[in-house]
Amino acid sequence: MASEKEAALAAVPSPTTIFDKIINKEIPAKVVFEDDQVLAFRDIQPQAPTHILIIPKNKDGLTGLAAAEEKHCEILGRLLYTAKLIAKQEGLNDGFRIVINDGPSGCQSVYHIHVHLLGGRQMNWPPG
Ligand code: ADP
Repeated sequence: MASEKEAALAAVPSPTTIFDKIINKEIPAKVVFEDDQVLAFRDIQPQAPTHILIIPKNKDGLTGLAAAEEKHCEILGRLLYTAKLIAKQEGLNDGFRIVINDGPSGCQSVYHIHVHLLGGRQMNWPPG
């Protein structure tokens, strides 16, 4: 299987991604939160005991953070606030990490903006 880095370098933005299939319930996911705007589900290759992806249901051009425009401010804030709610729901009371990978150098492999919520172990710095 390709490494995360190889997968990220090979990835290209496309109108639809695997996350659309999860939103449309065409493929299964372990959903931990859902409302009319946001969906959150467990990462299929967890990098920590808790590893959850938080995504907008309507991508609205947000392939990644670099594509953000002023009109996206509300949904960007909602993604982060939802991450905080889920961290509490998951019992991450000692802390957690939020990651948004962007573009090839940022190791992004799925071009539908998503917030990684990681927790349940001690994090290190700097990240790889
Ligand atoms: P990277 O793959 O380098 O972490 P991203 O930041 O784009 O890049 O993250 C995409 C994430 O989506 C990965 O952590 C990957 O494990 C996860 N993922 C891919 N397919 C699925 C799936 N079907 N269900 C849950 N998570 C998935």
